[in-house]
Amino acid sequence: MSRVDELLALAEATPGFMPRDEGLALYEHARAYGDRSPGGTWLEIGAWCGKSALYLGAAAQASASVLYSLDHHRGSEENQPGWEYFDASLVDPFDGRLNTLPSWQRTIARADLESTVIGLVGPSQVVARHFAQPLDVLFIDGGHGARVAWADYDEWTPKIVAGGRLMIHDVFVDPADGGRPPYEIYCAALDSGRFAPLAAQGSLRVLERCAS
Ligand code: MG
Repeated sequence: MSRVDELLALAEATPGFMPRDEGLALYEHARAYGDRSPGGTWLEIGAWCGKSALYLGAAAQASASVLYSLDHHRGSEENQPGWEYFDASLVDPFDGRLNTLPSWQRTIARADLESTVIGLVGPSQVVARHFAQPLDVLFIDGGHGARVAWADYDEWTPKIVAGGRLMIHDVFVDPADGGRPPYEIYCAALDSGRFAPLAAQGSLRVLERCAS
């Protein structure tokens, strides 16, 4: 089994909220970009237990790029007790709060990607204000609440280099299929004139940063 196939199989076996076809599309679009522009700086918002970090990490390693994987690791609103995507096994007995960081670390270590996928632990907005490095690839897959989704869009998308990639997860055209904010920031990216649509797979959208 090739190194990439091994990582994609590990990704599929990792808990998370990314269907296989969307994960493979994430890998393929990041890989195609990385093959043309190796050695890049990539960042994902929303890490959970490391599933998408393996799909992206497989592409990052193959192109000598680095993926920052950003999360406060306390779960989004829909992951809290009483909500639809709550997982009691992720509660830290120390303080009774959700904590996905140990699971994320185990995922990255098991995949032997610790020199390719670098964890950033904290609130997205705070990290963004102190992160000056331009981004070649940005994957937005954080909280679905309006405030956090718009903050991710406003703070991070200006950092994408011309020709770089913006990928957004959980973009549902039909409100019956899921929440609005990821769809709204996708529309805003198109309306801004800064991004052109490249591809779609399920709820994943891939855009290219236009030359300014
Ligand atoms: Mg998602």
